[in-house]
Amino acid sequence: MLLALIGCAKSPTGRNQLLVFPADQLDAMGVQAFDEMRSELTVDKDPAINDYVRCVANAITDEVTNKSTSWEVVVFKDPNPNAFALPGGKMGVYTGMLTVAENQSQLAAVLGHEVGHVLAQHGNERMSQQQLTSAALAVAAGSGYVDPYSMQALGLGAQVGILLPYSRTHESEADIIGLDLMAKAGFDPRQSVQLWKNMAKAGGGAPPEFLSTHPAGSTRIDNLLSHMAGALQIYNEARVKGKKPNCKQPGS
Ligand SMILES: [Zn+2]
Repeated sequence: MLLALIGCAKSPTGRNQLLVFPADQLDAMGVQAFDEMRSELTVDKDPAINDYVRCVANAITDEVTNKSTSWEVVVFKDPNPNAFALPGGKMGVYTGMLTVAENQSQLAAVLGHEVGHVLAQHGNERMSQQQLTSAALAVAAGSGYVDPYSMQALGLGAQVGILLPYSRTHESEADIIGLDLMAKAGFDPRQSVQLWKNMAKAGGGAPPEFLSTHPAGSTRIDNLLSHMAGALQIYNEARVKGKKPNCKQPGS
């Protein structure tokens, strides 16, 4: 019964994934979580900041092969260096991120990483793992079968499925997908390494939220560096093809 519900899939890097939930269900959850954030946080309407963030975000999402999602980015007025992308194509950038990501390529590294989580369906995979664990526990406890489509599961998913920290596997995979996206868009992939160094520096005192869910240690940087030669080749090809994003930084 349970096995019939388990979907096997391959992530963009070829890793086997268990995906229980239909993609459009995750999309709906992402849109709902985004609407809640938009009503709870302060949206920054500064045209220069919005133009800059949109310019970088659009360049990244233009490189997404599957065109079924329409992407949207909102800038939130908040000093924390934070950013996210949710299933359903919703992205958010906190203004505090713009002081840590010092140039367009570093911001592209952040957004490429976040979009990478969405493209690889990491939220769905995590929720699926949690669902299987709780179903197994319920069976073990003799309380019967847990319906993965129950509203309770959905509520749990909204809380823990798409906004909580990802595993190291998911982080590495998002880094690699993000590196590829930014290089294809014509952003210098080497700036991804600098971004994480800046992030680590920004976490000097109490770690900001983004850093606590995104450790900027040598594992991450080594992983990026091990893929850099390929990314630079993609980058150079993109530049030859005329992909030279020139997003104007606010105040510059
Ligand atoms: Zn991440």
